[in-house]
Amino acid sequence: MRPKVSVFTRLAGALLGALLAVKLQAAARPNIVFIFSDDHAVKAVSAYDDNLVSTPNIDRLAKAGVRFNRAYVGNAICGPSRATTLTGTHSHANGFVSNEWSGEFDGSQQTFPKLLQAAGYQTAVVGKWHLYSDPTGFDHWDVIDNAFEQGTYFNPRFRSSAGEEETNGYVAELITDKAIQWLDAGRELEQPFLLMVHHKTPHRNWTPGPEELRHWDEDARLPEPPSLLRDLSHTSIPRQNARMSIGEHMGDNDVKLSMPGNLDEQQAALWQQAFGPGNMAYAAQTLSQDEQTRWKYQRYLKTYLASIRGMDRQIGRLLDHLDANGLADNTLIVYTSDQGFFLGENGWFDKRWMDEISARVPLLMQWSGTIPAGISSNDLVQNIDYAPTLLAAAGVEPATPMHGVNLLPRLSGERTAPWQRDLYYHYYENPGFHGVARHYGIRAQRYKLIHFYRDEVWELYDLQTDPEDQVNLYGKPGFEAITADLKKRLQSLRAQYQVPEQDPEAPWYHGPMIRLFEWLLNLR
Ligand code: CA
Repeated sequence: MRPKVSVFTRLAGALLGALLAVKLQAAARPNIVFIFSDDHAVKAVSAYDDNLVSTPNIDRLAKAGVRFNRAYVGNAICGPSRATTLTGTHSHANGFVSNEWSGEFDGSQQTFPKLLQAAGYQTAVVGKWHLYSDPTGFDHWDVIDNAFEQGTYFNPRFRSSAGEEETNGYVAELITDKAIQWLDAGRELEQPFLLMVHHKTPHRNWTPGPEELRHWDEDARLPEPPSLLRDLSHTSIPRQNARMSIGEHMGDNDVKLSMPGNLDEQQAALWQQAFGPGNMAYAAQTLSQDEQTRWKYQRYLKTYLASIRGMDRQIGRLLDHLDANGLADNTLIVYTSDQGFFLGENGWFDKRWMDEISARVPLLMQWSGTIPAGISSNDLVQNIDYAPTLLAAAGVEPATPMHGVNLLPRLSGERTAPWQRDLYYHYYENPGFHGVARHYGIRAQRYKLIHFYRDEVWELYDLQTDPEDQVNLYGKPGFEAITADLKKRLQSLRAQYQVPEQDPEAPWYHGPMIRLFEWLLNLR
């Protein structure tokens, strides 16, 4: 005879079962570590290209997981890229279209950290935030605060919910210290976590840390890109009008002819020991314009790469810490940058353009047991996809739809079918630093079509034969059909994402103010 079981006992049993299921599910949910850098060009990650620099620690993620070969952002500028990362939506939808005149990021909208937090994740962000409003959806935040939230490489000020903090030290190391402190002592060990580690490096003005300054080699020479001395007078008017040339628009502080004002005595001595002799030699020579561009290029790229080497070492520290604490096994680790960067191509520095050089980013993901080790993906993916992907890893559904898609199904064993997908891009920050015209466009499998819509200029590139957007094919015979097709697909992307016809405007005084700033920055 079966024993009689009361309704109460049955209910209690069912409740216990449900609780256990929730507990098990919670145990299986991965931690997420999102490592973000600022302006890190794909060419400066050795997992992609080892001609310029070695980044052994970032490369660890490529070895243990997936390397995306065709990852892009939708608006290649710091704040907007960050807003898209958080919301999974393009700039027009999240409202943060420009660093310079969008005001503060609206932190009341849906973001993936908020959704994770509501689902029981502990959430933290340390480092560069650059959205002006205080972070929302984070149990812990500690972000760079000085220099309009750009921060300084040495002795940056931070701000957290506890207030402001002055520091002494090098930014990549300070950010890593803060990340490790939170992992060790800032969180409940039972809950899964999201940790966002946002480096300032290698953003302008790309200043190496103490270790790299100590080993500075003034005589080392890096290869020059073929287009370093390119004559842009035969390119489109928007390209001719940009103010981002290494020769003309790079300032003394960029190429370390002048020292940052906030170094302590020891830091200043190291800086002087590294750059002082080279600066004296530079002052004693008379260089032609091209020779000067070449000199500045070397200083620029060598300091840019040296700052990346320092950051890579700090990323290694963080990865070692995850390994040593048994956290690496059930943690999804992402490395990416908020956009690419011109490293002398077209004679340029900076970003903003829909060009491969600036809109394409490194994207690496490691999640042992789920993402196979050492694979690469040629899918066209975009920063709108990060939020949906990380939410899916945690088993969380967004409350309102995002623009991006979950990439994880593309990383399983059966990912052979090519992905028919076009990417939308839209740059708004004009007026703005560097005078890059507003443009939108479509990045398809082989071609890219760009519309500088306030200048009525179009550009078409065949990326299979021209991977650095050098030869504008728009209007050339033989490209009529592909152009017409791309225009149609561009319109459907704009309809799909509901891009308004009416653009947001900067205040009337912004343009003149920017020109004044640029003039002051480039003063000798
Ligand atoms: Ca950036």
